[in-house]
Order: sequence, then structure tokens, then C-alpha cells
Amino acid sequence: MKVFHVICEKCGASMVRSGSADSRVFVCPYCGNIAFTEESDRVKAARLKSDAMIAPYAFEYRKHCDFLESEKRMFPIRVGLIIGLALLLCVLLFFFLK
Ligand SMILES: [Zn+2]
Repeated sequence: MKVFHVICEKCGASMVRSGSADSRVFVCPYCGNIAFTEESDRVKAARLKSDAMIAPYAFEYRKHCDFLESEKRMFPIRVGLIIGLALLLCVLLFFFLK
């Protein structure tokens, strides 16, 4: 892996990468200066590839979340319907078995 060496423009110290190994953000540990580096072609290609690999799953996940959300909305309606039908059945039985 290519090691980036970024020099702080303010104090000349070596800056350290912030966050993950392919992060483009570098922070100076001495003065707190922040710098952004260009994304290399290899990193860009890997990022695009991983985005493309994730995309179908992200779509499935969103669909699943929508399904769960609609189920959550429908639950009180279903319970109300079942209770209503049970009450109706009780009333009908009460009048027919009298
Ligand atoms: Zn610095």
C-alpha cells in the first residue's frame, strides 16, 4: 500500500491520516491543521466498485425497511379489524341464540 506523506502547511510537521486507511483527510497532530488529499485512481476505482457491489443490497434493504414501516402502520388497523369482527360475531351470536 502506498503511504501518503503529507506535510503541514502551517508548521511543517508530518500530518496523520484521520479515520480509515483510505481517508482523504489528514490532521496535523501539533497545530490541528486539516488537509484534504486527492483521491488516487486506485482508491477511486475501489470505491466505485464497492459502491456498485453495495447498491443492490442497499435497494433490498430500503425495500425491507419500507415493508417493515408499512407493517408497523397496518398493525393497529389489523388489530382493530379483528376486534371489530369478534364484537360483531358476539353481537350476532347473542341475537341468534336468544
Ligand atoms: Zn501543523
